Amino acid sequence: MDAGVHEAMIMATPMPFVIAGAPGAIFWAPLLGLLAGAIVTLVARSLPARGRLVARPVCARCDGDLPWPAVSATARMLGFKRACPTCHGGPMPGDVWLEVGTALAFTVLALRWPAGPTLAVHLAYAALLMVILAIDLRHREVYLLLGYGGVVAALALAPLSMSGAIKNAAFGGAIGAAVFGLIYLVGRVLYRGREPLGSGDITIAALLGAMAGFPGVVTALTYGILAGGISAAFVMLRRQSRHTFIPYGPALCIGGLLALLG
Ligand SMILES: [Zn+2]
Repeated sequence: MDAGVHEAMIMATPMPFVIAGAPGAIFWAPLLGLLAGAIVTLVARSLPARGRLVARPVCARCDGDLPWPAVSATARMLGFKRACPTCHGGPMPGDVWLEVGTALAFTVLALRWPAGPTLAVHLAYAALLMVILAIDLRHREVYLLLGYGGVVAALALAPLSMSGAIKNAAFGGAIGAAVFGLIYLVGRVLYRGREPLGSGDITIAALLGAMAGFPGVVTALTYGILAGGISAAFVMLRRQSRHTFIPYGPALCIGGLLALLG
């Protein structure tokens, strides 16, 4: 193993989980997370279907309009405005998981970080990563509005986030884009022109870098590549083929979520 790889592995070694947040977070963070999760679900459905960041909630089964109070899939699962007025279907399990996942991420982050602007930025990043993850998983697409909009927001919020300063956020973003740009090119050569990972993954890597700065970007990409490797192994075992699409985008989002703890 060469020195650079070894150094990167040391930098990416997970820190012990320190609880610096108020214990009361265990009460408010899941509720705030469910609320944010409903917005995450709404954006993840309305952007691909209607081309708008926020649109009136629609039934994921029949595309029929839902009343606004049905915006939370979790509330629907629990019986509130459960049935769609058009097809009488319930909420999609994937949407419920997305909301519960967001609530879980919010709770862990609120226990990890003391209440304040830095925590607020971490929570906003988590919500954005959940939206990108869900859309990429369903449509294999990264919306530039979310990806590059996120990079711009991360540069603006750098003084409040992990990256520390705008220069550091820009440096981290450049590293993320360069590393995944290189992996993308090597992949295209190895796979003879076919794309083993999407070009959107470069956008996500840049976003993670801008969020985490340097050396946080190393942690985020290492977690992302590990998660991507595990999911690729699963995909190959199930399909018995080496030439399948690797869901790197969602794996990178999970890497970014884990890096928010660091
Ligand atoms: Zn319906």
